[in-house]
Amino acid sequence: IQMVFQNPFDTLNPSHTVGSQIIRTLEKFNVGKNVAERRQRMLELLDLVKLPRAFETRKPRQLSGGQKQRIGVARAFAGDAKVVVADEPVSALDVSVQAAVTELLMDIQRKNKTTMLFISHDLSVVRYIADRVVVMYLGYIVEQGTTDQIFSPPYHPYTEALLSAIPIADTSVVKKHIVLEGDIPSAMNPPTGCPFQTRCGYKKLVPDNLCETKVPPVKNLGGGHTSLCWLSDDVLAKMEPVIKFDKEHAAHEGVPDDAPHGVGPGFAGAPPQRPDGKNASAEADAIGERVEENDAVLKARRHEVRDEDSEAGVARPKDTTRRH
Ligand code: SF4
Repeated sequence: IQMVFQNPFDTLNPSHTVGSQIIRTLEKFNVGKNVAERRQRMLELLDLVKLPRAFETRKPRQLSGGQKQRIGVARAFAGDAKVVVADEPVSALDVSVQAAVTELLMDIQRKNKTTMLFISHDLSVVRYIADRVVVMYLGYIVEQGTTDQIFSPPYHPYTEALLSAIPIADTSVVKKHIVLEGDIPSAMNPPTGCPFQTRCGYKKLVPDNLCETKVPPVKNLGGGHTSLCWLSDDVLAKMEPVIKFDKEHAAHEGVPDDAPHGVGPGFAGAPPQRPDGKNASAEADAIGERVEENDAVLKARRHEVRDEDSEAGVARPKDTTRRH
């Protein structure tokens, strides 16, 4: 088992080169018989995560956030791990770089046939990347199933609220507006009964105060889809998609009927097309790499300015460059 950590800025040793840090991982996993073989494997790993081989001699401070995370990915896959746990691997990155790193993870996972446990709060990324989804609240698994099952009704009330909280920029979709009231209870001192009962709007539909007194059973919704909830089949059957395509609004806005809609999370329609092979990620890679290159140039320039200043004995504010 290997891990890709959330914050790429703290996971690399600042005083070692990128190459030596990957080689260290290879040594730990007994990959390669000698130094030459391990160096060759390290260069192949740089190829795998789409970084130039010249990065071998760079220190982490000379890399952008996305590039650092690519090194984290290279280390995670260095020992041919069977399972990789990716803990919010893109949440600390810019949105454009997030797309490139997500694509990279999917590419490598498919290529190496590795099982990946992807932990995220971003349900749009989850819908894009996952085959099966497990929704957790206060340490309880409240719902699990295939991606299509989780993103279509019937939902667990917490999943429904999560879906309604996702911003979607398409004006021709209508979204249920669900506001959760009440504080999040402490996981150290969870409420009695259902863990979600202090904030659940459906609680009043369950008789005999069951939600407040008894932990709900794991309800089988069919096809491996389960939900930790007391709601009856009748109530579940009446649940509507959180996000729907508004035909009238679309017609008013002049959006053609055959325009692609419903690819957002929570919509009961067709799921997003997952990329098929490396070519599908070329555009995201190109955007991500451009942003990363710009970041790296800015960062290098800052270091040069600081070095020049310290040689000249000039004190300046930390950030002497500007982004345009
Ligand atoms: S068991 Fe009750 S409180 Fe818990 S999610 Fe279901 S309806 Fe809401």
